This record gives sequence, structure tokens and C-alpha cells, in this order.
Amino acid sequence: MELIVATRNPGKLKEIAALLAPLQIIVRGVAEFPELPEVVEDGLTFAENATKKAATIARLTGCLTLADDSGLEVAALAGAPGIHSARYAGEDADDAANNRKLLAALATLPPEQRVAAFVCVMALCGPDGSCQTFAGRLEGRIISELRGTEGFGYDPLFVVAGNERTLAEIPLAEKNRISHRAQALAQVVAVLQTG
Ligand code: IMP
Repeated sequence: MELIVATRNPGKLKEIAALLAPLQIIVRGVAEFPELPEVVEDGLTFAENATKKAATIARLTGCLTLADDSGLEVAALAGAPGIHSARYAGEDADDAANNRKLLAALATLPPEQRVAAFVCVMALCGPDGSCQTFAGRLEGRIISELRGTEGFGYDPLFVVAGNERTLAEIPLAEKNRISHRAQALAQVVAVLQTG
């Protein structure tokens, strides 16, 4: 069986390929298909965005396709930055700018009101238009200064629930066992395994 993974992020592709390795599935990244268009993420939810990406590429290639969308939800900000996580501080914002904006937005809040979660939704779509979605969620809180050098995005500000370390202080292999992406992917693996 062949599975296209709709990501141009080599780190994500590697992580997904490693978890699917025991399944005898040929995993191909979209980078192998330069003729495919960039799918615009204009949905209102993680699930809409992941499904649009996977369904579009499955239809254009005729192959089973997996896509994901993820972000950070902060309860005190009514779920923001949410689906806008990558561009929270503006269209060309980098991680540092997004983190600065998040710290400023939460500046007056005490620790108990800094509850947050990373969310990932994966969509698995066939060329016939059939789709299934799988959600993963990692609970935690946002601290008031950056800590750690691992990972990316909001990792240096996110302390995992029941843990003292930020995700940027946790080795990547450990993050990949507990993350929102790992949780969603484990469900995808279970479905692919059963046929
Ligand atoms: P995307 O799913 O690759 O589009 O990621 C959306 C954005 O959410 C990223 O650019 C990060 O800002 C944030 N994000 C998603 N997952 C993580 C994570 O595991 N750590 C830190 N930030 C994340």
C-alpha cells in the first residue's frame, strides 16, 4: 500500500514514516510531487484544514493521503491562537514573534489561568472522497519566560501537565511519545493496521 503524507516539513515526514515503518506501507511526502498545488488552509477548524489538504491531494494523485493541522489553544484567550498559531503575530511571523505576542497577551494572568493545550487533527482520505479524522491533545500551561532549546514553535513556553519541564526541555524522542501529533498518529496507525 502507498500513503502520501501531505506535509513539506521533513521532520514531520520522518516522524510519521518511522511510526508507520512496521506496517509495510510505502510513505511518500508531497515534495515528491512538485506538480501538486499548495492547498490553502482556509477552514475554521483544525479538522477542516486537515481534511481539505488530505482530500485534495488524494483526489489529484489517486492515492490514500494523510494530512495534519495543529496548533496551541489557550483557554483564557478563548482558544486563540488556535488555527492561526503559525501566523499569530502576523503573516510573516517567526516563532520568537509569536512567543512574544503570547507572553504579552497573558502578562497579567496568574499561573492557574494560563491553562493551554496543543491540538493536532489528522485526516486520512481516499481518492474516492472518503475521509476519517483523528484528534490528539496535550494538556499543559504557559509559563512567563522562555525555557529550553529543543523543539520549535511554542515549545519553550509550554509546560506539560504533571511535569515541571517545558516541551523545549524534553528530548525530542520523549516529546514524540506524548505529543498531540503522536496521539493522533497512533489512532491512524491502528486504523491502517486493521486494513
Ligand atoms: P502546522 O500544523 O505545522 O501548521 O503548525 C501550526 C503551528 O502550531 C506551528 O507553526 C506552531 O506555531 C504551532 N505548533 C504545532 N505543534 C507544535 C508543537 O509540537 N510545538 C510547538 N508549537 C507547535
